[in-house]
Amino acid sequence: MSVDENTKTVLKEIGNVKLVSVTKTVDAERINQSIRAGATIIGENRVQEFEDKCAEILPCERHLIGHLQSNKVKKAVQYFDIIQSVDSLKLIQDIDGKAEAIGKVQEVFLQVNIGDEPQKYGFDLDEINSVVSEIHSYDNILVKGLMCIPPYGSPEETRLYFRKMKALFDEMKGENSGNIDIQELSMGMSGDYRVAIEEGATMVRVGSGIFGNRKY
Ligand SMILES: *Cc1c(COP(=O)(O)O)cnc(C)c1O
Repeated sequence: MSVDENTKTVLKEIGNVKLVSVTKTVDAERINQSIRAGATIIGENRVQEFEDKCAEILPCERHLIGHLQSNKVKKAVQYFDIIQSVDSLKLIQDIDGKAEAIGKVQEVFLQVNIGDEPQKYGFDLDEINSVVSEIHSYDNILVKGLMCIPPYGSPEETRLYFRKMKALFDEMKGENSGNIDIQELSMGMSGDYRVAIEEGATMVRVGSGIFGNRKY
């Protein structure tokens, strides 16, 4: 199957749920095939890789979905409409500073380490509330959603993590105020986006399901 057929198939299948076409390791030409087929959002993991190819990419919404190092924050704020991978208060502070310097309000999602895995990035479930109260003081940050990468497991194990995220999402949506305006729940990748949608995802991130297996 081709990139454009795959894109159309996924878009049709997910209906009103938003698609992030995940473009790490994919060249601009193939990214544009997905955009022409109807993808409106692309997701990149690395600022440097995106910088190298972004001039050739057609107009679309650009999301950063990979871990962001502090020395790349300035560029990330320049390039990305949404930074989905915000995983520490230090990063929020850095993003706020760089956004203020260019007169931007940076939209972000908070990444939640829903499986409580030591090796994974993201806020712990039990610190999320205190994080949110701290974020209120950063005027150049607007929190628009939550993102997670659940632990590797069977679809039914994964479902339970998606369900936990949905509960957190509903709870936080009910407390929106100031610069916390949570609208999106970004979860589900090629292998599990159908389960994620059943559990309430509003946005899925699909890479290999559109572009085929990645060659690093
Ligand atoms: C690579 C990646 C995806 C997409 O993964 P596939 O299994 O190729 O669909 C989604 N989210 C994040 C954060 C990723 O790094």
